[in-house]
This record gives sequence, C-alpha cells and structure tokens, in this order.
Amino acid sequence: MSDGTIFAPEGSGIRPFADTIGWLWRVPVTDSPSGRSVGIGTIEDGVELEALVASRQLAGAAVFGSRPGPDQGRVPGRQRLAGTARFGPGLATQGDFTVLHGPGRAVAESSFGAHALRDGSWLTLGFDPVASWGTLQHFWALRPLADFLAELLQRPMAMLPPLGMVRYDDVPGTAEQQLKGETKSDAHVRRRLRRILGAYRRAGAVINVAVACRALDGDREVPLESIWPGSLEMLREGIAEGYVEQVCHGYLHLDRDRSGPDEIEPREFARLDRPEAHRRIEAALEWGTSILGARPRTFIAPNWGYSSGSLEALGEIGLPAWLPFRFGPLVDGPNARETLVSTVNGIHDLDYAPLAALAAAGLPPYVTIHGGLMDARFDGLRGLRHAGALARLALRRDLVRLPGVPGIRWVGSGELMERLRAHDRVEVAGAEIRSPDGVEVSAHGAPVAAP
Ligand SMILES: [Zn+2]
Repeated sequence: MSDGTIFAPEGSGIRPFADTIGWLWRVPVTDSPSGRSVGIGTIEDGVELEALVASRQLAGAAVFGSRPGPDQGRVPGRQRLAGTARFGPGLATQGDFTVLHGPGRAVAESSFGAHALRDGSWLTLGFDPVASWGTLQHFWALRPLADFLAELLQRPMAMLPPLGMVRYDDVPGTAEQQLKGETKSDAHVRRRLRRILGAYRRAGAVINVAVACRALDGDREVPLESIWPGSLEMLREGIAEGYVEQVCHGYLHLDRDRSGPDEIEPREFARLDRPEAHRRIEAALEWGTSILGARPRTFIAPNWGYSSGSLEALGEIGLPAWLPFRFGPLVDGPNARETLVSTVNGIHDLDYAPLAALAAAGLPPYVTIHGGLMDARFDGLRGLRHAGALARLALRRDLVRLPGVPGIRWVGSGELMERLRAHDRVEVAGAEIRSPDGVEVSAHGAPVAAP
C-alpha cells in the first residue's frame, strides 16, 4: 500500500470524485486526516480543511467550487463567466467558467482569468467536479491537481498511459432504426465507412463498432448480412487488419414484446432472464466470429439496459461489459465503466486537444458517437459564430478527425478493458510503482522535497 492518501471529510459532496481520482492515480482515499494526507473538498468543507492544514493534521488541501461568492477564509473570491475560454492554441472550450480572484499563483488560466490558484499548501480549483464530470470544458483541472498531490504526498501519481477509445454505435444499422425509418442503404453505409475506416487505418488507430447481429425483414428476424452485406464485408476486412474492433451489441437491439406502433423499446437486455440473455449473447458471439471473423472481446447493451439476468449471463460466458460511468473505481467486478458521461459537452469548434489533456492526466476519453458527430454537437455549435465549424464538420466529421489528434493512442475496447483491469491492481509503495504483469503505467510527478 502507498503511504500517501487523499482525505475527504466525512459526508462531503466531493467523496465520489475523490474515489474516482484516487482509483485513477492509485492513491487510497480516507476519511481520517493525517500529516501524510492531502484533503480535498468543496467550498463548504473549506473551514474544516483550513483548520486541519493549520494544525498540520493535513499536508495540504485542494478545494473545488464553481459558485460565485466573496473570499471565505483561504477560499478566494469567485466570479462566473459564460462563453469561450481560450487556454492556448487549439485549446479552447465553451460553457460556464469560474474565475478566481485571490492570493497565489495561477496554475490554470484562460482568456477569462485564473481557474486554479496555488497558495503554498492550498489549491483552489474553480469548478464542481461532481456536477461537471465528463465535460471537456474543465479539462484543465486534472493536471494541477495531479502536480499538487504528487508534490505534497511526495510520491508519483500512477496513471494509465495516454489512451482513448472511440465507439461508433449501431453500425451498419439496427432493427430499432429500421422501425423508426432511420436506416441507410448498404451502398450508403459503405461509402460512409470507407471514409471513416480509412482515417483510422492511416493513423494506426482502432475504431470500435457496436454491432448487433440480426435485423428485420418485414416481420422476420434475419441475419444482418442479408440487409447490409457490403458494409459487413468492410468491417470484416478492417477487423482482419486490426484497425476495427467489434463490440458485441446484442442480438436484435430491440425488445419486440415491448415494441409496437406507438413505442419502440431498444433495450433488448433490460428485462431478459439469465437463460434467454445467455442464448442471445452466445448467438451474437458466434455470429461475430463467423461473419466478422473475430470473437468480440467486450459487450455493450443497447442503451445500457442490463437486467441482473443479463449480467449473470455475461459473467458465465466470460464476456466483460461496459457499464455507464459512475463515480468510484472504473472496474466493477468483471465489468468496467465508461470513463466519461456519454456527451462531450464543452468542446469548442474543432479543438480536440482537451481530449488529449484528459488522456495525459490518466483519464482515457471514452467517446461514443452515433452519426459521425459527438453527442450534443449541434447544441454547442448553434449560432452564426460557429458556421465555419459546421461547414468544416459537414465535410469531415468528428469521427474522421479524432484519429489525427496528437497525444492519444486510440485503442480497441478489449485492450482498454484489459488495461483498466490491470490498473485496478497497481499499487504505489513509497516512490515505487508496483504494476502487476509488467503492465505499462505512467508516473506523473517525480517525488520532490516538500516546500
Ligand atoms: Zn445501440
């Protein structure tokens, strides 16, 4: 075990975030303070943390807050601003921001002002990490927090290497989309795939495709290749050459018992009992093996609808599933959690560098894309000011641009799942990182003498 810990006051709203960061950087989280702990908390915890730091019961403290207000003890005054914050070339994000006014050195700053202030053993960060997890606009916060913890705890933060994962969902089409009249022809999907897959092949990246194995022909369930044969052939080629990986996305992507003229229920696995889930997952794996040429290594249920029977069946089969993000360890039994919430709010125009900043801080962006654009993209681009970005995205979508982002290695879901599970067993003793099976770990912040 490591001898530096993160202290989160009992009952603090910051605890869920502390548990996630502690897992990502391999620092135990505790609710008993010690001189070998750095406290983290919300503005409400500021008074308690200040007293603990003053009496040397904590080595230091980091306080998070987005709410505007005047100075409160060591917590500096805060002002809210909305718009586009520019952190450097290619590093702009948009949304609501908190600017800090107080003593200390700015360790994160944009065109709006200082977002993080360091004052000796005190760090203030102007955002609420529990409310804002997964939005890109606060990408700047992780680095100063990691620097601060490494310095005060005199130990490295043991991070995942800079990885990311792109998942393109519902390719080449699903029964749900068929019922909604949203599917595209095989020729159309092939043209789209040619452009997308080529970008990943050329960049040496992997694109993950969530594919179910049956579609509808009128009322009949038919194998997917009877509707989209050419598209599946392209996926098969990409899988054989290593730049495409299938994520098993179920059997039909539809709960037929709960779908009718007025309602379409895509959550195929939300109510299945164990034997039926087992049958469908096995059939989907066999289909992937024979039609796409490789057995999928991970599973994602349509719309994250997992019944307990479905999770049991996955466990029996030994197929790990992706669960929606939740604070705490990203490994959950045999499964793992996605690292972000599903939308990537805060992205500005075509500035993808914040994704690389998250990856560099040991948080691999897990980006899910449906129609070529990141979710909630149009909300962010609305208005004339972003007409240029819209025009450029019409030519080349996010999905095609992402593999070119420097600083991220985009991996297959099987690899990411394995790395998360190995990371769960990484420990830090003194300044030494102990990694099981020799798995790669990035050491952030060499231990230096405390100030
Ligand atoms: Zn889907």
